[in-house]
Amino acid sequence: VLFTCDSCIVEDKAAQSLLNKIIHTSLVNTTNQVEVLQRDPNSPLYSVKTFEELRLKEELLKGVYSMGFNRPSKIQENALPMMLAEPPQNLIAQSQSGTGKTAAFALAMLSHVNPAKKWTQCLCISPTYELALQTGKVIEQMGKYYPEVKLAYAIRGNKLDRGMKLQEQIVIGTPGTVLDWCSKLKIIDPKKISVFVLDEADVMIATQGHQDQSIRIQRMLPKECQMLLFSATFEDSVWKFAERVVPDPNIIKLKREEETLDTIKQYYVLCSDKEEKFTALCNIYGAITIAQAMIFCHTRKTAGWLAAELTKEGHVVALLSGEMTVEQRAAVIERFREGKEKVLVTTNVCSRGIDVEQVSVVINFDLPMDKDGNADNETYLHRIGRTGRFGKRGLAVNMIDSKHSMNILNQIEDHFNKKINKLDTDDLDEIE
Ligand code: ADP
Repeated sequence: VLFTCDSCIVEDKAAQSLLNKIIHTSLVNTTNQVEVLQRDPNSPLYSVKTFEELRLKEELLKGVYSMGFNRPSKIQENALPMMLAEPPQNLIAQSQSGTGKTAAFALAMLSHVNPAKKWTQCLCISPTYELALQTGKVIEQMGKYYPEVKLAYAIRGNKLDRGMKLQEQIVIGTPGTVLDWCSKLKIIDPKKISVFVLDEADVMIATQGHQDQSIRIQRMLPKECQMLLFSATFEDSVWKFAERVVPDPNIIKLKREEETLDTIKQYYVLCSDKEEKFTALCNIYGAITIAQAMIFCHTRKTAGWLAAELTKEGHVVALLSGEMTVEQRAAVIERFREGKEKVLVTTNVCSRGIDVEQVSVVINFDLPMDKDGNADNETYLHRIGRTGRFGKRGLAVNMIDSKHSMNILNQIEDHFNKKINKLDTDDLDEIE
């Protein structure tokens, strides 16, 4: 079979990251403990439970509270005292998106700045234009009551003349432009930088050029400059890069909440083709009261077709599709979250990493598979799994229409060592 496989396309990490930033309007819950590895294991481990304990400038404390933050997040409890320590300490921090990393380093940069000095003192690099703008917004909001501190964006299109000296104390930008401003154009004197932040390291290293540029920037900075690196994930490659960019680091890690299938009722439905799958889907929908459902398809084409068919049947359907911009996707997710639509049809690429907690039913219209056509167990778990403490009970229905999809289902059963029962869509009493 030949199809355009949406979930086989290498995932656009930067877009995913931006989407996460836009849709995370509050902290992600976690019950896991923060792991701290100190550079100097003999110094006392210092953590804070309030922002007052950090002895921030009045203007900044006001800024923090005006954003609605009452107390530091889990990662901030440990990261902030380290980042604000004297003498400055280097830090590598990893935690999933939405746990408060950006807010933490924004506060650290704002605290370190001396507003009386009219030159760049803090430098932050982000992988893309959009991510840089997003981070800049946080700094601007937090520094709202501290107008003496100015922020400049080193991003494409922001053309400055060679030799002019930048007066803004904080610069945020993408590696290429920042490198230009530091070396070729000499707008920033890298020797005067005292805080260097590298954000989204995992996204950064996905582009080889960015990795090299980041290292070149880092090498121009003085030895005593504080180096901070943040990442949502931590594969070996990220780790190797982090160690090159951040000498003698403290390390903070926060594990993401484990997902489990224990509270999920899993079924499969046997059909002969996609039309029959659609009929079965309608039967399920008619038989049970569903608060909100997410339906996963393999290709954009199927997702589009299914959304149209469901709409014809009178359902109010939201569609997330690969050709949408990040802003459009964020708007769709936001509407779905608010309950404006009850059904969300999507391909995997569009919705990876999106948590919609109120969804009680997940339909795999197509089963998740990798590029070789094998079961993608991780994606399966992520689509239907719930995190222990926050998860309500849920229902997952897998649509089977071929030997191949049955095979994938069996692989999934084996992998999780859980039997998935057959559902007879003419007799749906058992699932309610
Ligand atoms: P990350 O950089 O890890 O993705 P963010 O710093 O963007 O996380 O924070 C995620 C969301 O939580 C944002 O909407 C942010 O405003 C909010 N947030 C951050 N820190 C706190 C806090 N201490 N209290 C309440 N909300 C916070």
